[in-house]
Amino acid sequence: MIAPLNEDKNLHAIRRLIDESERIVALTHMSPDGDAIGSATAFRSVMEQIGKDVQIIIPDMMLASLRSLPGARDITDATRYPEFAEKLITEADLIVCLDFNESKRVGKLTGLLEQSKARKILIDHHLNPGTFADVAISHPEMSSTCFLLFKVFCGLELFSEINKQAAESILTGMMTDTGNFSYNAADPDIYVVVSELLKKGVDKEKIYRAQFETHSLNSLRLNAYAMLKKLEVWPDKGAALITLTRDELNRFHYTKGDTEGLVNKALAIPGVVYSAFLREEDGYVKVSMRSLDKFPVNELCREHFSGGGHINAAGGEFNGTLEEAAALFRSLLDTNKSLYLSATHK
Ligand code: 5GP
Ligand code: MN
Repeated sequence: MIAPLNEDKNLHAIRRLIDESERIVALTHMSPDGDAIGSATAFRSVMEQIGKDVQIIIPDMMLASLRSLPGARDITDATRYPEFAEKLITEADLIVCLDFNESKRVGKLTGLLEQSKARKILIDHHLNPGTFADVAISHPEMSSTCFLLFKVFCGLELFSEINKQAAESILTGMMTDTGNFSYNAADPDIYVVVSELLKKGVDKEKIYRAQFETHSLNSLRLNAYAMLKKLEVWPDKGAALITLTRDELNRFHYTKGDTEGLVNKALAIPGVVYSAFLREEDGYVKVSMRSLDKFPVNELCREHFSGGGHINAAGGEFNGTLEEAAALFRSLLDTNKSLYLSATHK
């Protein structure tokens, strides 16, 4: 039997808020990934089954790989349609915040979200949830918001309303946030949920191919270039780093998502416990980190790169040049060494 959430009071409150609301918005974090889009589209599908319309708003563009998801239609990208997004948020009576913990994770929409008179529900699995929502179901021990959302639906007695499209969305988020069940995936309940989703008719292989095995030629070449020419490794310090400049990205006609998964690659090297990828953006550097075992990349990102995340998958931003960001990372190698030793040799 699947372990219940023990959130009866919050589930009651959520059911009441949904029943009382007419203009419901589902909102995700910036650069929405499979878990963000999956949870938003699954939520909308299930709400449709009970006669509730939901408008999905994303702060900026989603990865191309997610557009193949059957539920990923009619999503308002606030960067392309700022006025419509503003109208929806301003007029909403309920905003459901999915897969993010703090209002600042919605970027340019932060002010609108904070000022909106709508009541707010947060359903998320990141550490340290903020206090901006009226009802928060936050479970950092769970590997994806989609997995959590499945349990929320069950708690709301909406299991039967999870149709094939919602099931595909949920499985997409569960797979993308665990690298196809290769990390954060030891909870036996995950596989009970997968089993239920398969019974609802999802094509697991099709989702796997779309999310993990579909790359443009440019993307394959950019990743090969990064591994061959740009990977630095410090085996005695357990660290690896890849940097890519704007010029290098342009050379391979980079589009969003082309370097997805690149930061994980160096963790394959025996002895490497944490890995960083620094990508030059316009005016800042996007930071992405991954780690093994107990090495807390979220702390590293929070203390030095204005970010945060999970213990083994975190990110942030650096206001400065790519070289300065790389120099900062390298300057921390010695300090991190004790962290690395205690994380791995306990
Ligand atoms: P990614 O490396 O895939 O961009 O992000 C991995 C994880 O790090 C995300 O799921 C999120 O939890 C966290 N993360 C990424 N970028 C940021 C950021 O700018 N700020 C914060 N607080 N967390 C981030
Ligand atoms: Mn997630």
